[in-house]
Amino acid sequence: MSGKVYLVGAGPGAPDLLTLRAARLLGEAGIVFHDALVNPEILALAGRAKLVPVGKRCGTHSTAQTFINKQLIDAARKHPVVVRLKGGDPMLFGRAQEEIDALSAAGIEVEVVPGITAALAASASLKVSLTRRGIARNVALVTPRIGKTERESDWMASAVAADTAVIYMGAGEADAIAKALIERGRAAATPVAVLENASLPCEQWHFGSLAELGEMAQRVGAGPAIIVLGDVLRERVHAESRVHELLRKAV
Ligand code: SAH
Repeated sequence: MSGKVYLVGAGPGAPDLLTLRAARLLGEAGIVFHDALVNPEILALAGRAKLVPVGKRCGTHSTAQTFINKQLIDAARKHPVVVRLKGGDPMLFGRAQEEIDALSAAGIEVEVVPGITAALAASASLKVSLTRRGIARNVALVTPRIGKTERESDWMASAVAADTAVIYMGAGEADAIAKALIERGRAAATPVAVLENASLPCEQWHFGSLAELGEMAQRVGAGPAIIVLGDVLRERVHAESRVHELLRKAV
């Protein structure tokens, strides 16, 4: 008899954005495999569990995916409830499919518990709807990040074409991304926001235009950051520049 593995979304960071189901499963888990991005306050809910960090921070060593898959399979043979906790939603840019496939192939039952993805946490923090009547009827969630064995995809075409584009894992190469998007036809004046640590008290926002994105991203610290661009941000970006202008005049 093997246990069940739950792929659980930890949300964007704020512990109270966790779902009730996620909180319950953390309390029941015998073992929790978690990403490096997961807030310690969330991990504290897993009072009975052994905590195993497996992860994934941009630029640092990450546990190889096949090894994580194997660890999950081994854990399910020992524990009735195994939680694999991933930042945001497990099904977006989280390699969940590889884990689901490996577990299913090993005959282990899997359940997915959704979480709030960074794009939606950013939208909430900004108080800017990613869709808006007459302005934006579609949203592209994209990443420039590509795995070693992965096929190239033309993610940039959708970031150019979408009314609103949200770029995950792109802040580190923001300058090159901005230049390429402009070259591919996205207006240099497109309003952009970069959000670092969305949903947390230490959240930081940077506003500007696509032409300024590279410079904006240089002000981003070590936290996870997401880029949002599109006309839905126009008023928010203008309001922000007016505030900056007034502050500048005041000093
Ligand atoms: N599955 C996650 C995404 C994993 S990829 C989700 O659904 O959100 C990791 C990237 O997500 C980071 O590089 C960053 O671009 C974004 N991200 C995650 N948490 C974030 C946060 N609190 N604020 C801003 N960006 C965040």
